[in-house]
Amino acid sequence: MTGARRLRIAAVALIVAWFFLPGLKDWIPIWIPFLVYAALELNFLIGGLREPHVPATRGRIPQTADIDELGGEGWLEPMLVRIEGQDVWIPAGGKSDEEVQELIEQGRERLLQGEPAHSLWPQPPARVVPGRQRLLARLEGVAVLGALALVLFVLVPERDWDGVDDADQAATEAMLSFEAARIAGHAVADVHCDARGEAVGIVQHADGIAEVGGRNAYLTPDICYRLYRLRYKGDEGAFSQTARAIAVLAHEAWHLHGETDEGVTNCYGFQSGVALGRRLGLSEGTAARMMRQQLADNATYGRSAPEYLVPRECRDGGSLDLAPGSSRFP
Ligand SMILES: [Zn+2]
Repeated sequence: MTGARRLRIAAVALIVAWFFLPGLKDWIPIWIPFLVYAALELNFLIGGLREPHVPATRGRIPQTADIDELGGEGWLEPMLVRIEGQDVWIPAGGKSDEEVQELIEQGRERLLQGEPAHSLWPQPPARVVPGRQRLLARLEGVAVLGALALVLFVLVPERDWDGVDDADQAATEAMLSFEAARIAGHAVADVHCDARGEAVGIVQHADGIAEVGGRNAYLTPDICYRLYRLRYKGDEGAFSQTARAIAVLAHEAWHLHGETDEGVTNCYGFQSGVALGRRLGLSEGTAARMMRQQLADNATYGRSAPEYLVPRECRDGGSLDLAPGSSRFP
């Protein structure tokens, strides 16, 4: 196998791994390995074009190089003979009848000693046409590159919220609005996926904005995209990203409900996030683990933004426990 082919197989394996190992997608944008591969392929192509071209002039009589390539003069006239009931090719070129008979006798002895017929006079390697093979190798690289580009940039164009078509965006916003209204206890809520709300009396965070006690909430496109993938594509995505997206939606919904205190809003949001996660397609266990992780992370994030730290009463059986009868929290 050539180095170029090994590289191609490795590149395809890496890009397939990118799709199936959740961690890779989060850390490496797909165009980076693609560009590296394209650059290497270009390098092979240019290297191939620069190789000195050997003129392929051929006379009628086989050249010495041809004969060597063929495995010796004998194979210029291979002869199929039957020895001890087996078909055997012998290199009969340039040999007299007596010499051929001698070869047959040798073959018979070696066959009787148990040697397999094909190893008596190993066939010469298949002739190769270097120029054509180089061209095929180059075309193979171009074909692999083209197939990867097609898959990455045509068949999988939906890599962020902007890549989701309008109808699906509208359906997602309607679905998120329904879920937010449910948590807020409102008849109607409007969740917008552009995070550009400039209404008065709203609270703002990195990933979402909501009118306290109002109707409008705004989420960043990344949060919407993650929830869209989960709900409509069954894609659970990276654990902490999906957990974060669910917690943000539930958090903003609690602001719509009328909660102003960020710590309390977080506490309620983590609890509502379990049922919300289930409705979006997660298993009960996964949804609960995600919200427990969000609660655990809260202690860390809370250090830099103390107002977001959940209060002491945010615990099983505490005054902020929305389901005091249950022993699970959140
Ligand atoms: Zn908030």
